[in-house]
Amino acid sequence: MTTRTVPGRCPLCPAETPKIRIAQGRDFEYGTTPLEFTVVRCDGCGIQFLDPRPADDEIAGLYPDTYIPYRMDQLPAPVRAARDFVQRSKVRAIAEHTRATSGFAPIALAAFSASCATTSEW
Ligand SMILES: [Zn+2]
Repeated sequence: MTTRTVPGRCPLCPAETPKIRIAQGRDFEYGTTPLEFTVVRCDGCGIQFLDPRPADDEIAGLYPDTYIPYRMDQLPAPVRAARDFVQRSKVRAIAEHTRATSGFAPIALAAFSASCATTSEW
């Protein structure tokens, strides 16, 4: 299976902002693609992202049917509540880091959060 990719870019900074390659590797957890992923860090704000990244219409195929977020409604309520707590904590940490390093307002962070498929309150 070949996974089509598109150039990745920082969701907060201008496209021409330099980025630094920091890691590269394959998905060892699900093994749904032979694609080697490259993680870069934006020199403007420090956010890390894939570049290139899978095209939007390829992303669903990278996760197996057993992927937990696809089965959230089947999990016991305490497990869902614990996962929600962890996800909210992650989003708050990202928001605090981004505010401290870039000064972007929470509305920009909400868009970033949505692009990460995370739902949370601020
Ligand atoms: Zn940036």
